[in-house]
Amino acid sequence: MRIVFLGAPGSGKGTQAEKLMTKYDVPHISTGDLLRAAVADGTELGKKAKTAMDAGELVSDDIVIGMIRERLKDDDAQKGFILDGFPRSHAQAAALDEMLAQEARPLEKAVHLAVDNDEIMSRLMARKRADDNEETIRHRLKVYEDQTHPVINYYAAQAKLATVTGIGNMDEIFGRIEQAIGV
Ligand code: ADP
Repeated sequence: MRIVFLGAPGSGKGTQAEKLMTKYDVPHISTGDLLRAAVADGTELGKKAKTAMDAGELVSDDIVIGMIRERLKDDDAQKGFILDGFPRSHAQAAALDEMLAQEARPLEKAVHLAVDNDEIMSRLMARKRADDNEETIRHRLKVYEDQTHPVINYYAAQAKLATVTGIGNMDEIFGRIEQAIGV
C-alpha cells in the first residue's frame, strides 16, 4: 500500500491513516507528528519549524521533503506507507514522485477526505491543540486553499485521485476509504 491522504486540517486524515496502519500493518507517516517531535526535541530543524507552525504557515519545502526522504528509507517503509500531511504543496508532490520513481515504486492513490469549511471550523475550534486558536485556524485554512488544494488537481491529472466524503461516523468513512483504494 502506497498512498497519501489529502484534506483540510481537521478533515480526519490522521485518524483514518491510523486505522489503516493498524489493519494493514503499513506505517502511518505524518509530517505534522514528525515536526512536533523535532520541536519537542529542540533540534535546529525543530526550532526553524516551530515559528512557521505557530503562525499557521507551511514549514519550508526543503525541511519537510528532506524529512520524508529519510523516513521513507527506514525498513518499515519498504512494505509501503500512508502519508498524512504530505505533500502540502505542488513542489512537495513533485519531489515525492521523483523519489518514488527512483525506487520504481510509484504512488498508488491519493485519497482526498472532503469536508466542508463550516464543519472543519467547528471541529478545529473543539480540538484545542496549541496551534488551534481561531486566528491561526483561519490562516491555516487559507494556506490550505492557496497551497495545498492545488495538489488535488495534481493527482487528478495523474488519474490517482479518490475523493471520499469525510462526514459520517468513523467506521463508515473507513469503509469508503477501503473501497476507494481497493483493499
Ligand atoms: P493539520 O492537518 O491539522 O494542519 P498537521 O499536524 O498535519 O496538522 O500540521 C501541523 C503544522 O505542521 C502545519 O500547520 C504546518 O505548519 C506544519 N506542516 C505539517 N506538514 C507539513 C508539510 N508537508 N509542509 C509544510 N508544513 C507542514
